[in-house]
Amino acid sequence: MRKPIIAGNWKMYKTFDEAVEFVESVREAVPSDEKVDAVICAPALYLPTLVDLATETDLAIGAQNMHFENEGAFTGEISPSQLEAIHVDYVILGHSERREYFNETDEAVNKKVKAALSHGIVPIICCGETLEEREAGQTEEKVSNQVKAALQGFSSEEVAHMVIAYEPIWAIGTGKTATAEDANHVCGQIRKVVEELYDNSTAQQIRIQYGGSVKPDNIEELLSKEHIDGALVGGASLQVESYLALLDKI
Ligand code: 13P
Repeated sequence: MRKPIIAGNWKMYKTFDEAVEFVESVREAVPSDEKVDAVICAPALYLPTLVDLATETDLAIGAQNMHFENEGAFTGEISPSQLEAIHVDYVILGHSERREYFNETDEAVNKKVKAALSHGIVPIICCGETLEEREAGQTEEKVSNQVKAALQGFSSEEVAHMVIAYEPIWAIGTGKTATAEDANHVCGQIRKVVEELYDNSTAQQIRIQYGGSVKPDNIEELLSKEHIDGALVGGASLQVESYLALLDKI
């Protein structure tokens, strides 16, 4: 049985005070981490404070990006060792917004996954197709190529502990959710790619989230599907009520 993982991706939203207030409000209210992994991926600036606030609670804190080098002359970047030192648990890698606006390549994502693992940070690896690619029937090819590239060079044991987030780009922030059937179909294809690259046991262990306009009123149906093990949530993770409502549906 795969444990569900619900991760909020706050993107570039919330003031410091709002972030603190949010974590103070949800940290005692999230369900036990034996039942579900509840994660908030916050702006980097807030991470040390939020990690402290969430210590010894069932809420985990993640970053939204990082560099793959440990140190160096990379103005404005944050390294895996810096995240490890403040005890960040997760990092989102290869989000479509980073790929589109910051030229993040499959090769860079692969290096970042490697760096995350060597610092004990669980990577949430994003993949997904554009509307144009979906309409051209290229979803499977696009997504499996992204997944294969990201997973290059890892052992099956390492892969089993990763999280993949399938986020169709046309469903992000648009209010358009993939149907639960479509989302499950693509998540199933991703699992098949993992099985082909590794083996059935690894494919059964890796957790695959769906992301794209997930809300308290559609999460239940999505999570009822065989291959969907959780959600990566933007907008609906910004309010205490809706974030807790998502977790309540597990
Ligand atoms: P929305 O839930 O706002 O569509 O965002 C999805 C997303 O990009 C999460 O990473």
